[in-house]
Amino acid sequence: VDLQVIRTAVVPMPGAYAVRAGGGAVRRLAPVLRPGQDVIHAPCLAFVLRHPSAGVILVDTGFHADARGSLRRDLGLPMSVLFRGLEVAAEPFDVQLRAAGVEPADVRRVVMTHLHVDHTSGMRLLPNAEFVCAREEWAATRRRAAELKGYVARHLPDASRMRLVDLAREGELYGPFPHTRDLLGDGTIRLLGTPGHTPGHLSVLVDRGADGRVLLAGDAAYVRRNIDEQRLPLIVDDPPAARESLRRLAAFRAGEPDVPVVPSHDPDAWKALAPEPAGPGTAAGAAEPSPA
Ligand SMILES: [Zn+2]
Repeated sequence: VDLQVIRTAVVPMPGAYAVRAGGGAVRRLAPVLRPGQDVIHAPCLAFVLRHPSAGVILVDTGFHADARGSLRRDLGLPMSVLFRGLEVAAEPFDVQLRAAGVEPADVRRVVMTHLHVDHTSGMRLLPNAEFVCAREEWAATRRRAAELKGYVARHLPDASRMRLVDLAREGELYGPFPHTRDLLGDGTIRLLGTPGHTPGHLSVLVDRGADGRVLLAGDAAYVRRNIDEQRLPLIVDDPPAARESLRRLAAFRAGEPDVPVVPSHDPDAWKALAPEPAGPGTAAGAAEPSPA
């Protein structure tokens, strides 16, 4: 499976938001609110997988052009405040897909790590896609005040286009992960239940063949430091579950040190997958034998 990363936006994120400070709630929050403290420039990533027989499968989506015009219009008021300062890439998600050689209307399947606004803005640019996500995640979008938890109804497709996976009931053990699913049945794309950031968060393990495997961690970790130091981001839905998922990611990495683990918002981890920025030449280049 060929994997291409698309950086769809960059958002300034206080370091103490990505990795919480020690102490109680007030001590954790203080450095986030203090002006001038360290800020990381967090990317928002989406991924294009090309499977030899199943074709194009995306992981997460980027931003709709509406978000470029008005973040508030696209994300709604509460989330536009949280994501203030977000800079959407010069080209919206559909344009970036076409540059990668993917016609948005031709996309049939998208794996959603979770359904927070910074991952769902581009779902409505994919009119013929079926979206795979965990049952618990879809249920979370239907609860009262879901918007305050990061879910925006206008981004989401009709329920008939969701393919909900029930990892807790049907999933199988894989390494340190008790609940996983082999998406295509050939071992190339495995969904890993990594709840905590959200109720039904999934990570995705991709086998690139000769290029080796990659673990797309979504937001189970914002940055590699969450895994390295076993410290949660400031805000998570279920802290004990999120801690358990961080432990499992660390255990996986200890057993598979050559497999890059790529959180969706780490400023640097994704660069291991994309030495060159994704652009019009990339898709054509991928089809040619590499001179290296
Ligand atoms: Zn996110």
